[in-house]
Amino acid sequence: MRMTAFLKSLPLMLLVLVGTGLDSSYSAEKTFITIGTGGPTGVYFVVGNAICRMVHKEAAEGRKTGRKHGIRCAAPSTGGSIYNINQMSTGELDFGVVQSDWQYHAANGTSLFEGKKFDKLRAVFSVHAEPFQILVGQGKDISNWQDLKGKRVNIGNPGSGQRGTFEVLLGAYGVDKSYFGQTTELTSTEQSRALCDGNIDAYGYTVGVPNAGVAQAADGCGASIISLDGDEVKMLVDENPFYTMATIREGVYSTTERDITTFAVMATLVTSADTPDDVVYEVVRAVFENLDDFRRLHPAFAELDPQDMITKGISARFHPGAIKYFQEKGMM
Ligand code: GLU
Repeated sequence: MRMTAFLKSLPLMLLVLVGTGLDSSYSAEKTFITIGTGGPTGVYFVVGNAICRMVHKEAAEGRKTGRKHGIRCAAPSTGGSIYNINQMSTGELDFGVVQSDWQYHAANGTSLFEGKKFDKLRAVFSVHAEPFQILVGQGKDISNWQDLKGKRVNIGNPGSGQRGTFEVLLGAYGVDKSYFGQTTELTSTEQSRALCDGNIDAYGYTVGVPNAGVAQAADGCGASIISLDGDEVKMLVDENPFYTMATIREGVYSTTERDITTFAVMATLVTSADTPDDVVYEVVRAVFENLDDFRRLHPAFAELDPQDMITKGISARFHPGAIKYFQEKGMM
């Protein structure tokens, strides 16, 4: 994080150095933004880097036409949703990709954010759907939730969205992690390897479909996704606006022999009210003006629909910079 701290202080140092005599409060020349993502084999990492790519594309085109925004963007891999929210609240990250359930809880001060409401959390847009997936190792004889009892299960690293959502799921079943024989806290990057090596029997992961991490275990060593369609899950979805039921289609991975039913959240881009309006406006503009290019950067983005991106999974207030763009385009 020291590098981030350095990079974060850089624009300020430059402003101090060259700021005297300039009366523009927002200097387009010197803005460096960071977007928190997730593990390097997940989809968030691609979301963040795809956004940066569009921002830099607009910068390059702007140099030709004289429309300068001057924003430089980086999207490092991080511990995931909850980590990103916490880092945005302390100003360490400017933007973050976060699950819609944790966006809701952070904005409302509920669940893990009870007493820690992030008042300045602002929505920018949503991206792809993220079904909660339990992957089980080949030959483990686990085909439903009940079969997981007493097994070795990775519940995810603290700070990841899936860790939080897994705990919520355990609560919905009226149990805690002692329901499993053993739990591990591996990151999304470590868990597929552990599953293939036989060190764990299953893991839970909230992630877009398809993705490299799950493919590593499914196509690589025969792991498969089980359905989560019991009454407990249906009740969870009924009671919470940020959950929906979802289907993972047959054939997505080599071991997906039939449609899988589970619950899902949305991946969303959020920021802080402290991020300048012009910066948020330019980020939104870069993505929406280049949506076809954006869609091509990951199969999970293929179906992105602009209207869904400003409605689905949004519970925090929109950032004014985002509103400005959506209103200009008549979308809002
Ligand atoms: N949903 C996960 C999280 O919030 C990240 C998934 C991904 O990296 O694509 O931590």
